[in-house]
Amino acid sequence: MPRRGGGVNANRPCGKTESGTGTGTHAGTDRTPAAPAARVFPVFSVPLPTPVPVPGVAPVPRAATIPRMAKHHDVAVIGGGIIGLTCAYALAKAGLSVAVFDRGDLGREASWAGAGILPPGNPDRAATPIDTLRAIGAARFPYFSAELGELTRLDNGYFRCGGIEFLPPDEAAEVLPLWEAEGIAFEKLSREALREIEPALGEVPGDPYLLPACAQVRNPRHLAALVAACERVGVTLRPNTGVDLITADPRRLTVAAGVVSGNEACPAGRVLVAAGPWSERFLTAGGRGPGVRPVRGQIALLKPAGRVTTRVLMIGKRYLVPRLDNQVLVGSTEEPEAGFEKANTAAGVADLIALATRTIPALASAELVKCWSGLRPGSPDGLPFIGPVPGWDNVYVATGHFRAGVQLSLGTAQLVTEMFTGRPTCVPADAFAVTRTPHSGGKPAFRS
Ligand SMILES: Cc1cc2nc3c(=O)[nH]c(=O)nc-3n(C[C@H](O)[C@H](O)[C@H](O)COP(=O)(O)OP(=O)(O)OC[C@H]3O[C@@H](n4cnc5c(N)ncnc54)[C@H](O)[C@@H]3O)c2cc1C
Repeated sequence: MPRRGGGVNANRPCGKTESGTGTGTHAGTDRTPAAPAARVFPVFSVPLPTPVPVPGVAPVPRAATIPRMAKHHDVAVIGGGIIGLTCAYALAKAGLSVAVFDRGDLGREASWAGAGILPPGNPDRAATPIDTLRAIGAARFPYFSAELGELTRLDNGYFRCGGIEFLPPDEAAEVLPLWEAEGIAFEKLSREALREIEPALGEVPGDPYLLPACAQVRNPRHLAALVAACERVGVTLRPNTGVDLITADPRRLTVAAGVVSGNEACPAGRVLVAAGPWSERFLTAGGRGPGVRPVRGQIALLKPAGRVTTRVLMIGKRYLVPRLDNQVLVGSTEEPEAGFEKANTAAGVADLIALATRTIPALASAELVKCWSGLRPGSPDGLPFIGPVPGWDNVYVATGHFRAGVQLSLGTAQLVTEMFTGRPTCVPADAFAVTRTPHSGGKPAFRS
């Protein structure tokens, strides 16, 4: 049987574990308003099995408690981050049998670490494929959150908090036509109007644009709900089961997985590589890989005495995200040079704190609750890779979502499901091809 993937046993993630991950949540215990009950998904509209009540937060299953998988699955997903799990959920609802393998706990890498900003969007009018995927997320996150809540009784913290994007004139000239063409509601605020709605703000460079439909989700809660929802729809979950390589004989694909207590071969009709920044070694069967690489992002969580802002504040690639319990998440650095080293650095945290206190001076006296970091899956042009992997039949990839994997997760799952079920695709099927020449022009409508 020819060996086609990387050959080394999947190691535990390089670098240190995230600080403060013990509670499985970034910050306090806020409650979110109920999301609308209607459902409009093309992909997510297959009838669900009868919901079973889940008391509290479902524990992430561990390999020791799950029977060894012997059966053939339609799809084996490598990587249980937000991309792998959302795809698995959508594929299972489309009628496919799916298994998800993760070398660690499910959803504990970048997908856990992210800030959960969901910019607004309108899929019917988005100008580019990447804006379409983001807009699908913007339009459907409320319904998807309600669906997860109904199915699992877990609240993912989805909340339409609004946002303010600060744009220098040259960037506004590029971005505003995109927002206008897409029909995104926004309003340029005068300094007086800004002071009125956000009185704690200091001097922030750029002109403020109010985005009322900007939303946020609490990543650890969303991941917990996704894991529980995957179980409900019959996805086989295999945490602590790193995939070493993909092999193929003339009849079938096999995912060879190193498990805690030995090795096993798991046959599958299709394989979806969704291993975040660790995906590259599975993508080199046709020659050189496409260049998926880690880009570290650090975050600091501050706890001021009271409420200092109610909206997501986006300043270039940095942002402040207020939670309903008044804590403020400040992010994020962009450090490709850190490689797979997951750590917080003095310089990174100092930079974030400086941004926070410049933007909201009252944050100078806030408690620094904790810091953490995550490794974004970067690509040469900042766009994801979604589609077939050259050199293989029936191996696909969905990774490289860089700064936007949460907002792009629903659109990605829709596109993958359309590809796997032979339906017309929501964007051109080759829009995110592994073989593309890195895209040079065309900024996405949002940078955060
Ligand atoms: C600080 C920070 C802030 C962010 N903020 C936002 C935001 O506000 N909004 C937004 O949309 N996005 C944001 N992002 C980006 C977003 O978090 C990522 O794009 C997204 O989480 C990527 O998800 P993923 O599933 O591809 O990767 P990951 O979450 O990295 O998941 C990949 C999984 O694959 C597993 N794996 C690796 N190798 C193997 C193997 N050999 N076998 C089995 N499993 C394997 C890993 O253990 C991991 O669980 C942020 C990211 C960071 C770091």
